[in-house]
Amino acid sequence: MSKPSVNIVWFKRDLRTRDHAALAAARHAGLPVIALYVFEPALLALPEYDVRHGRFIRQCLDDLAQHQPLLVFYDGMLPVLEKIKQHFDIKTLFSHQETGQLATFERDKAVGRWCKQNGVGWQEFEQDGVHRARRDRIGWNKAVLRHLEAPLENSVPLPLPDLSSTGWDTWPAGVADGAVLPPEILEDHPDFQPGGEHNAWRYLHSFGAERAQHYSRHISKPLESRRSCSRLSPYLAWGCLSARQVWQWTGAQPKFKHPISNFRSRIFWRSHFMQKFESDYTIEWRDMNRGFDGALNRGNDPALFKVWSEGRTGFPMVDACMRCLKATGYVNFRMRAMLVTFWCFTLNQEWQPGARLLAQWFLDFEPGIHYAQWQMQAGTSGYHTLRIYNPTSQCEKHDPTGAFVHQWVPELQHVPPPLVFEPWTMSAMEQTFYQCQIGTDYPAPVVDFDAATRVAKDAYWAVRQSPAVVNELPRLFRRFCVTKDAAKYKRDNRPTD
Ligand SMILES: Cc1cc2nc3c(=O)[nH]c(=O)nc-3n(C[C@H](O)[C@H](O)[C@H](O)COP(=O)(O)OP(=O)(O)OC[C@H]3O[C@@H](n4cnc5c(N)ncnc54)[C@H](O)[C@@H]3O)c2cc1C
Repeated sequence: MSKPSVNIVWFKRDLRTRDHAALAAARHAGLPVIALYVFEPALLALPEYDVRHGRFIRQCLDDLAQHQPLLVFYDGMLPVLEKIKQHFDIKTLFSHQETGQLATFERDKAVGRWCKQNGVGWQEFEQDGVHRARRDRIGWNKAVLRHLEAPLENSVPLPLPDLSSTGWDTWPAGVADGAVLPPEILEDHPDFQPGGEHNAWRYLHSFGAERAQHYSRHISKPLESRRSCSRLSPYLAWGCLSARQVWQWTGAQPKFKHPISNFRSRIFWRSHFMQKFESDYTIEWRDMNRGFDGALNRGNDPALFKVWSEGRTGFPMVDACMRCLKATGYVNFRMRAMLVTFWCFTLNQEWQPGARLLAQWFLDFEPGIHYAQWQMQAGTSGYHTLRIYNPTSQCEKHDPTGAFVHQWVPELQHVPPPLVFEPWTMSAMEQTFYQCQIGTDYPAPVVDFDAATRVAKDAYWAVRQSPAVVNELPRLFRRFCVTKDAAKYKRDNRPTD
């Protein structure tokens, strides 16, 4: 007996029902559709992933399934396609392109080969204005704007085909073929943002209605930014909202024109950073500027990794951010940048282990933004302005009452500002009075900030000015920079001799 023909919509980092090009195309194609999400054990086991990501995805699927009947598997993508093929004649696989790591890229290539071998068409759609493997930026800005301004895709729920011959469950009754998901993914956690399209819109609405008011003023403050920033990053990273939906919705807001305009420029940057990664996926593990490869002599010290990751460096702002990030999946942009420069310059360590750890802890881990931002802050592009953040000044400027540090480093809760910014300067009497013995209750600084940073910075500049790094710049400008940035760099760095 011939098998019924179906199409598949493969959900990846696009866990929404609206403005979804793959769903819209499947609807036009007309056949019954299997809407599919696959939890892939091999991907969940990568060092960049954590139970927080699996849980967020599961919450997204719970929400998605209320509007779009859905099959969920816990297996490799190829075995899942084979399982579906046993029951159905698969005509076309529809999905968005994924700006992902090497592991997902390799998986996608294997899926492409499988489709070819099995006579299945695969239609992939661009997301968020990011162009596949683009080699330059000529005309890119305008193309992204066109994408963001284009009409939203109009998607409607697509019924699943008759599953009676398969015995499969639909989500959320369980994983289709009865496989068991890791139980921790199934449990909600009150300290993390909850996944799902519904929650994404909730955050967007409250931002536009009220929270955006102090967006620009609070953006660098670790405590206030938690409310005044949009907090849309996990929803964008897992595709509960498209960049276009956010762009168009915020563009129509009558209130808070200036902060909303600052916010919208970041939606544009998001595509800009993701395009960098799409244009060179090797920046997941290699220095963006090849001239730095092996030349910086940064360390890979497990003892330093331990104190940094446990939030026990003796620098209160670094420690508060690391503990907060681990516990909640979020710190704001400025504090992320500080954590990177502390790791790469003050502790003089290779960026890769640090990038992997923070990926694991960022609920919003988005490979495209993450690796490009790490390389920018670690100085390994060789063309960005170098900013090294002093954790003490960050306290003074952005947490002047010490409220954030007190919350996350309770050992220091009785130490008032300004002492709490530099607790190692407390006298013996102050340590007794404020109930915090340095070296016992809270660590002494792991390094001397000024001395350590100066040495690392000097070593860095010696390499950055080397021919190996400088000769790379034209290639990087062509590939990664919008024309006006490249022209500005050339103007600012005109040779003087
Ligand atoms: C080392 C480092 C790693 C980072 N890794 C990630 C990551 O894995 N995922 C991620 O989403 N963001 C990452 N960022 C960028 C930024 O810190 C977060 O997007 C932002 O803090 C998220 O909070 P929000 O949604 O409230 O941001 P808002 O300020 O409200 O911005 C709205 C959206 O714009 C985008 N955006 C904001 N800032 C940037 C930026 N500087 N570059 C690119 N896009 C931006 C994000 O999608 C964000 O959700 C990283 C930054 C650094 C310094």
